[in-house]
Amino acid sequence: MTDSRGRTPLRETVVPFSAGDGMACNLVHIEGERAPTRGPVILVHGAGVRANIFRAPIATTIVDDLVEHGYDVWLENWRASIDLPPNPWTLDQAAVHDHPAAVSAVVSATGADRVKAIVHCQGSCSFVMSALAGLVPQVDTIVSNAVSLHTVVPIGSRFKLNAVLPIVNTMTSYLNPHWGKHAPTLAAKLVTFAGAATHSACDNAVCKQVSFTYGSGDPALWRHENLDDATHAWIGEEFGAVPVAFFRQMARCVRRGRLVSVDGFPVLPKDFAAVEPRTNARFALFAGALNRCFLPASQTATFDHLNRFRKNYHSVHVLPGYSHLDVFFGRDAARDVFPLIRSELERPVAR
Ligand SMILES: [Zn+2]
Repeated sequence: MTDSRGRTPLRETVVPFSAGDGMACNLVHIEGERAPTRGPVILVHGAGVRANIFRAPIATTIVDDLVEHGYDVWLENWRASIDLPPNPWTLDQAAVHDHPAAVSAVVSATGADRVKAIVHCQGSCSFVMSALAGLVPQVDTIVSNAVSLHTVVPIGSRFKLNAVLPIVNTMTSYLNPHWGKHAPTLAAKLVTFAGAATHSACDNAVCKQVSFTYGSGDPALWRHENLDDATHAWIGEEFGAVPVAFFRQMARCVRRGRLVSVDGFPVLPKDFAAVEPRTNARFALFAGALNRCFLPASQTATFDHLNRFRKNYHSVHVLPGYSHLDVFFGRDAARDVFPLIRSELERPVAR
């Protein structure tokens, strides 16, 4: 059986792994018809979504593209995944417990000694924490989208993080854009009302709540003109609970302009920009020029920072016409973005 483009559907195997603190997470191993000819790539989703965020109903997803080009693809459901039970996760927990265990699981399943990573938003922040702290030494290339070490957000988001979040925190421990479809509590109804009242550009209730929860834009995480109708409808079931604990950490990071740890793990620096990176990995930093969740200045600042430690090694791409997640599920992402991501995966790295 083949799909509409004559391709055999990809095979999915869920491979459980235990995070460092015992939390049950998993990797989704994706295989094509032919055995991989290149090494493993791990894809790490953002906050309040799941591994499936990389598999929108577009003709060619990043997963299809990587498999087609011979990569061995692994999608990590870390503790922020909505496929796992809601929990008050922090970036620190993911950096210490989840990503090192996921990378080790890929290494032991494949026998490869090197792994490449494509990491998005809070999957990127937490994975970059792991890398900068020296906790994922097997990873030699990190393609990051939207944000990594420096956290620069629009003024409206700063206001929400500093003034609105403390109020929200008294009412609920989680936010959930899916409340746009069904708001089960009074707190959910109040938050949803505020989101709907301030976002009018679209009639998809979850789309509005995503914008309200994660950015300052209408919409904040994509350009409507970049999405096809099927993908715009699909996002309605791809966003779930995200803990206020995470937003409290991000509020501190935004005030400092860069990642700071909050849980006191001795293996993590307090301020990730104040110490020399403990990794040889090459960073390829991507940002949509129109991103209204994290501004592209986030990634350019991180590039400048990394470039000070190792000149002419890392790279940064600001993508015109793109925002935040349309970098992965925009209707033309396969033409505009994926070849660039692959060319970054193929560049030489220090050993
Ligand atoms: Zn919309």
